[in-house]
Amino acid sequence: MAGKMAACIFCKIIKGEIPSFKLVETDKTLAFLDINPLSRGHALIIPKFHGAKLADIPDEHLADILPIAKKLVKATGAEEYNILQNNGRGAHQLVDHVHFHVIPKPNEKEGLG
Ligand code: 5GP
Ligand code: ZN
Repeated sequence: MAGKMAACIFCKIIKGEIPSFKLVETDKTLAFLDINPLSRGHALIIPKFHGAKLADIPDEHLADILPIAKKLVKATGAEEYNILQNNGRGAHQLVDHVHFHVIPKPNEKEGLG
């Protein structure tokens, strides 16, 4: 486990060894912008506890996450949004540190057309 943590890019982001655009930080949780956003404001929320899948994360860390998701969607002003969390390669997980995607949908009236 220690070796996996040392190689984990999200643990490096938590430690500041890889730069990120931080949005919210608490003692248990970090939220930052996704480097390859699916929409404007696409954010990732991660527990500061290293674990690959949801079932590996203690409840007190998980409990910190959804209120931050709510804060982020309110901050974007998006009326429609997805909260996604992938577990395992077959479920499209690429980074083996639990993360919740917050993906705002552009509001209709902000469209270019
Ligand atoms: P997954 O497919 O594992 O659910 O999503 C991983 C997400 O992490 C992807 O949306 C990807 O763009 C994002 N990501 C991967 N590496 C980095 C990084 O170094 N910095 C940031 N900010 N996001 C990353
Ligand atoms: Zn990690």
